[in-house]
Amino acid sequence: MPSTTPNIGFIGLGHMGSGMTRNLQKAGFSLVVTDLRPGAAAELVANGALWAETAAEVARLSDVIITMLPTPKHVEAALRGPNGILAGISPDATWIDMSTSVPDVAKSVINDPAFAGLHVLDAPVSGMSVGAANGTLQIFIGGESEDVIRMRPVLEAMGDPERILHVGGHGAGYAVKLMINQLWFSHLVATAEVLAVGTAAGVDLDVLRRSLIASPANSNFLEHDVLSVLDHGDYDEGFAIALACKDMGLYVDLSRTVGMPSELSALVEQIHRRARRAYGDTAGEMSAIRLYEDLLGVPLRLATADRKVSA
Ligand code: NAD
Repeated sequence: MPSTTPNIGFIGLGHMGSGMTRNLQKAGFSLVVTDLRPGAAAELVANGALWAETAAEVARLSDVIITMLPTPKHVEAALRGPNGILAGISPDATWIDMSTSVPDVAKSVINDPAFAGLHVLDAPVSGMSVGAANGTLQIFIGGESEDVIRMRPVLEAMGDPERILHVGGHGAGYAVKLMINQLWFSHLVATAEVLAVGTAAGVDLDVLRRSLIASPANSNFLEHDVLSVLDHGDYDEGFAIALACKDMGLYVDLSRTVGMPSELSALVEQIHRRARRAYGDTAGEMSAIRLYEDLLGVPLRLATADRKVSA
């Protein structure tokens, strides 16, 4: 990579990629972008980004290529074939995959002698589409230290510098991200169930939540994240439940690959898959809470005015 500001190629301009590219552009990086939906690039192109028809063309014109795609299959599709990244990438370029994926994706490239010399990082993120838009993502990086240091300015344009963590060798970033998601989606199911059962037992929802927060059973999910549902009935359509189920499936696959049991996670995954079936692929990632609301017969909502009075 030249010592001047690198040209960034970005593939995948969805809920996450759209905000991330806007922040790269704001930080002064030149962008070459592509997506299966050309309309997704309109604003970026109006602000000076170059549109490329294929991932290979993106790679040919870039020093650093970032992918932010839904699943490992999409990443493989963008990488390989005559129009793929690997057909256009220069031998000393850097590929950063920021999708939530599995260690095998990075390893298949690292271990392929045809791509010796290529710099590869896995750098998946947390922080939702809001964090992507605000440039406050948490980023978990797997790969070589020199590449992480070299790429820090690029990553800092998209994430919170305090929470950009180098977590190990190739694939470690993907693994940490899967652990984070699995624990968060487990908190979601446990919280929804407890709030629904407590409400059915006649306890006021606000009193119940406050009591739990004041107890050893408190969690970040209960204190903060669940409020988007309890306050506004917002199940976060910025992250589709189909992708959430993909992540939980990847976690269960990884536990199988490493030979560890994951009974609880397998059950949590099934509950989220039930919600996906009930409310559709594009329903928000927190839709499993709706399953419990439907069983209860009323939505779990706080009377905001009461909460303010007693706060
Ligand atoms: P999304 O479905 O909104 O966007 C994906 C984009 O990729 C779409 O615009 C699609 O057209 C494009 N695409 C798919 N295949 C392509 C290809 N071969 N070439 C070019 N473009 C292609 O997904 P998202 O919500 O932005 O999520 C992206 C990744 O980030 C996923 O791995 C997801 O698990 C992860 N993630 C999402 C969130 C969130 O809150 N949405 C949070 C953390 C991590």
